[in-house]
Formats: sequence, C-alpha cells, structure tokens
Amino acid sequence: MSHTTLDDYQDRYAARIHGMAASEIRALFAVASRPEVVSLAGGNPYTAALPMDELGDMFTRLLAEDGARALLYCPGQGDAALREQICGVMADVGIDASAGASPDDVVVTVGAQQGLDLLARVFLDPGDIVLAEGPTYVGALGVFQAAQARVRHVAMDDEGLIPRALEQAIAECPAPPKFLYTVPTYQNPTGVTLSGERRVEVLEICERHGLLVVEDDPYGMLSFDGHRPRPLRAMRSEGVFYVGTFSKIFAAGLRVGWVLAPPAVRDKLVLASEAAVLCPSALTQAAATRYLTTMAWREQVKAFSALYCERRDAMLSAMDDYLPSAMTWTRPGGGLFVWADLPEGLDSKAMLPKALAKRVAYVPGTGFYADGTGRGQMRLNFSFPTAERIREGVRRLAGVIESAGELRDTFAP
Ligand code: PMP
Repeated sequence: MSHTTLDDYQDRYAARIHGMAASEIRALFAVASRPEVVSLAGGNPYTAALPMDELGDMFTRLLAEDGARALLYCPGQGDAALREQICGVMADVGIDASAGASPDDVVVTVGAQQGLDLLARVFLDPGDIVLAEGPTYVGALGVFQAAQARVRHVAMDDEGLIPRALEQAIAECPAPPKFLYTVPTYQNPTGVTLSGERRVEVLEICERHGLLVVEDDPYGMLSFDGHRPRPLRAMRSEGVFYVGTFSKIFAAGLRVGWVLAPPAVRDKLVLASEAAVLCPSALTQAAATRYLTTMAWREQVKAFSALYCERRDAMLSAMDDYLPSAMTWTRPGGGLFVWADLPEGLDSKAMLPKALAKRVAYVPGTGFYADGTGRGQMRLNFSFPTAERIREGVRRLAGVIESAGELRDTFAP
C-alpha cells in the first residue's frame, strides 16, 4: 500500500484553510515543554494550585448524584443552572442585572475560543475588516484568519488602545469594519490594561461610528491590587458582546466559556454552536456549576492572583537585574504576561533557536500581529513556572540577548 502525502490534497482544500498556519506558540510547544527548558512561552494557569482532593470529591459526588443527566446532551445554549451562575460571576465585575445581563442572554461555549469563533461565524464574511489591538491575542487572529477576514491593528501604549489611533483606523478603512476585537484588561500578550478614561472614549468612538465591540475578558478577575477595572460591557450594553471563560479563574481543561449577547444575536450564536458542536459538554458544565455553588471559588481566584502577583514580581525583578538597559517592558497589574521590547535591531524570531539551545523559551512578538510586525518584541509568561525558574529563565534569556547584541554590533557597518 502506498503512503499518500498531504500534498496530494493540495488543490482540494477550501480557500479558508490556505491562509491558516500553526501559530508561533503551537510550533514551540514540543521543545518548550522539555523539562530542562524554562518555558516563559506558555499561557497556562497554574492548576496545581487547585485543591485536587476536594475537586476529586466534587467530581465523585457529581457523578453519583447527577451522572445520568451530566452524561447526556444538553441544550445548545448551555445548561440553565450554569447560565444563572455565570451571571453571578459577571456581577462580580459589574455586569449585573442593571447592566442588562440575564441568564437568557448567555450562550455557553467550548471555552472563550469557541465564543470568538461563533462571533466570527455570525458576523464575518470573507474580506471583512476587524479592528484589533496591535499586538493582540494569537488565538483570535487564528479565528479571524479562518473566517478569511482582514485584521487591522490599532496602536496601543501603556494605557491600552489609543483612542486617536482607533479614530484614525476607522477613517482609513476601505469599508466599515465589522467590529473592534479588544482585550481591555490585563491583555494577552502585553499585560496592559485600558485606562478608565480611555474606556469611556473608546466606547464613545465606537458608538459614534456604529462599530460593534467584541470584549474578550479572560483575565479581568486576576488583579494584583484588588482593583478590577470595569468591563466595557458593564459600561454599555448596546453593541458590546462580552466573552468570558472559566479557563483562568478555575481550569482551562474544562473548556467552558460563554458569550453574553442580546437575544437576536444570542439566537444566531446558538445556531452556529449547534452546527459546530451540538452542545458544549454537559459534564464539564455540571462541574463548573458545582464548583461555583459548593466550593470557595472566590477565595481560589484570590489565591491564583496572589500566586501570579508573586511570580510577576519575580519576573520583573529578574528583568531589572539581568536585562540590558536598552530594553523596556510592561508592568502588568494582573493576568499572566509581560511584553518586552528588545534592544534596537534584535529579532526575537531569529533569536529563538539560540534561546532554546540555552534552555529558555518565549514567544516572539510576530505571533501577535496579523501583518508580520513584532520582531522586536517578545511575550513572557509568569503564571506557570515557579519564581526560581522564572529568575533562572530570565538570566538565561539575558545571556542570549547579550550575545545576539554582540553579534549585531560585529556585523554593523
Ligand atoms: N482570549 C484570550 C485573550 C486568551 O488569552 C485566551 C486563552 N489564552 C482565550 C481567549 C481562550 O480561552 P479559553 O481557554 O476560554 O478558550
């Protein structure tokens, strides 16, 4: 029997698959997960901090008391009890009944990722334009690429999306953009948070131009100083679709997220979700519901935040100690990531094999742009490695950057 190579199918693929390539992050996984490598490349929550024995009991009880139901299909919109609980979670960040949030308007999804995919299926035709922060979440870029949409980046600084740049991007679009995709709080990949003043301005600009907003908020509760910025959706219900997830406040492996959208859009999202997955997992939804109703989930969010805060501090102090003064980086108030600017002329993508040889991994900035920029930047994760490993990783990274800098100076004219 002859082996068929993948290329034999080349001219049979749908157009949408041609633009899709493995993300920078996925390509890194195999090497970065070797134990000798300090991986600052991940984006995983530190699930080892969860009370596993208690969770074990919870899952056992779930199956004993509710197994027959939890192992069935469920409504495409998601389980009603969980949707009720999700409204309780959102109320904690200010999206409550007075902001028009109701369990009826929640669509449970297979992680926030499917929420983004459903929004793309409902709103995007090939060629449509989406505005997004530059840089932005790599998984959202994948979704928009699969939808054959075009992404235009809007510049950001230490206070998030720059309103003037948003205004300009809208004006320069050859066709009205379909929506603004934004991660306003403790953004992936920069860790940056949109300031309160700018939240008002951004909403005002979007309203004035009739621009819809997709607000992606996986990190809003992981605050290091107790201050949780109000989501855009808490400030405006009209035209803002809110995407949430349990991945960072409970467990990513559960694959449970949600979208909050007004009834007409909600119905379309449910249709799109049923076409894709019939319904999200009833089992993990039941687990999420039990977790929220029987365990101290708010305390756990505080514990995650305290742990990540300690690790952020370890990362920032190691960066202060080891990295060259020509570098700058963000100082996130929450979330999982620091974003660093390399010294002039260094290329994070070209440098990566050398970093892996020195047993440290990061994600090159190019993964977070649709247009190939970002070579001068990198994303560093501090949620998963211990403080000691983070310090060691940054020390190794500093050595790699230093020798890349020397090489650059040698070849400079
Ligand atoms: N949005 C952002 C900004 C993310 O960082 C992530 C996960 N890293 C997701 C969405 C996807 O999250 P989930 O695990 O809920 O699918």
